[in-house]
Amino acid sequence: MDFKFSAEDERFRQEFRTWLRDNAPKRTAKDSDGSEDGLGAMNETAEDYGRRRAWHKKMFDAGWIGISWPKEYGGRGATLTQQIIYNEELSKVWTPGTVNGLGIMLVGPTLIQWGSDEQKKRYVPKILSGEEIWCQGYSEPGAGSDVASLQTRAIEEGDYFIINGQKVWTSDAHHADWCILLTRTDPEAPKHKGISYILVDMHSPGVTVRPLRQITGDSNFNEVFFEDVKVPRKNLIGQKNQGWQVAITTLMFERSGIGGGRDMSGEIEELARLAKSVRLNGHTAWDDPDVRQKISQFACEAAAIRYTGFRQLTRRLKGLPPGPEGSVLKLCVSELNLKMGKFAMELLGPYAQLEYRAPFAVDHGKWSYKMLGARALTIAGGTSEIQHNIIGERVLMLPKGN
Ligand SMILES: Cc1cc2nc3c(=O)[nH]c(=O)nc-3n(C[C@H](O)[C@H](O)[C@H](O)COP(=O)(O)OP(=O)(O)OC[C@H]3O[C@@H](n4cnc5c(N)ncnc54)[C@H](O)[C@@H]3O)c2cc1C
Repeated sequence: MDFKFSAEDERFRQEFRTWLRDNAPKRTAKDSDGSEDGLGAMNETAEDYGRRRAWHKKMFDAGWIGISWPKEYGGRGATLTQQIIYNEELSKVWTPGTVNGLGIMLVGPTLIQWGSDEQKKRYVPKILSGEEIWCQGYSEPGAGSDVASLQTRAIEEGDYFIINGQKVWTSDAHHADWCILLTRTDPEAPKHKGISYILVDMHSPGVTVRPLRQITGDSNFNEVFFEDVKVPRKNLIGQKNQGWQVAITTLMFERSGIGGGRDMSGEIEELARLAKSVRLNGHTAWDDPDVRQKISQFACEAAAIRYTGFRQLTRRLKGLPPGPEGSVLKLCVSELNLKMGKFAMELLGPYAQLEYRAPFAVDHGKWSYKMLGARALTIAGGTSEIQHNIIGERVLMLPKGN
């Protein structure tokens, strides 16, 4: 890979940097202790969400959302190098964050691959713009890692499906206009063969969304109930009973999306700053060679993740769908994030027990908050154990365990 930037790339960098300088909102005192877990903003109020939506619209209007999407779908068809430059420039500036992460990361790319021309025309443009927010209805109380065991039923009646069942852990369902829903359409067929992939309007009668509370205290995901929900047959993606193939495409976009393109160097610098500011055994934690060794190890892992991410992105920009290598990234990013969170707790000692925004908490308690939130990344999008299985079986081609 050649990482030299051409004059055109430098112009691109300058253009985006200048746009961000002139347009990024000012950071308020309240924003300064905000933290993110990589899955979305934490401790978010309706007002914060409104700010994210407004910032998203501004970026979209200027052509800075989904830059690697093909031009015909509203992207810029940006090159790998431009995508890297974009991420670098964005990470240097504080912004409120954007919306519709699942729509942009999962739904759009899946519809571009599997949707009919009519479906692409109807749904794809409103994804990047954030006009329609999407959620992902896969997991059920009895079907998580083994999602193909799902029981939500869709029965065909004329031009409609009638849907009954329950989903769980549905991120963003409380904001969503649409859901990519996996349903069972043939209960007699082997479990992977009787599933259909259907787009459901979340405002339909019979859809109920109930928030769930996470260990951090936030409610970013939900239970969603479907009671005799009527969905037009034209919302089916691909063939009836062959939704599993479509579902796998979405999952591969999810795994590579959670891990890919993530530059963790800023988080490592923050950890180093923490080590320089807290005291351990009569000196700063940073004075302890074991602490510096540990932080250096995190930096090495982060660099390996960064370059593996570039390889994955190269594949995507060549028009190839993400491969099982996305599991490597998803596993390494989420586990490194958790290890760093736990190490911050060691550095903080007894102060680690103070909650987010508690009086006397170091850095407003964001470290314990981040550590609690970090566990979620090792579960969402397929647990670490499941990623190990995939890497063993499909990347390393090891024999399947019993
Ligand atoms: C923050 C967050 C957001 C989420 N958002 C969504 C969403 O938007 N939409 C959605 O559909 N789902 C979502 N999920 C659900 C997520 O996909 C599931 O939690 C995940 O797939 C695991 O399923 P489960 O919770 O049922 O655990 P289970 O599958 O019951 O697993 C329990 C434990 O057993 C282990 N295990 C299971 N099977 C195996 C195996 N074959 N080999 C080895 N170990 C195994 C698991 O690793 C885990 O430790 C979200 C989860 C989180 C944490």
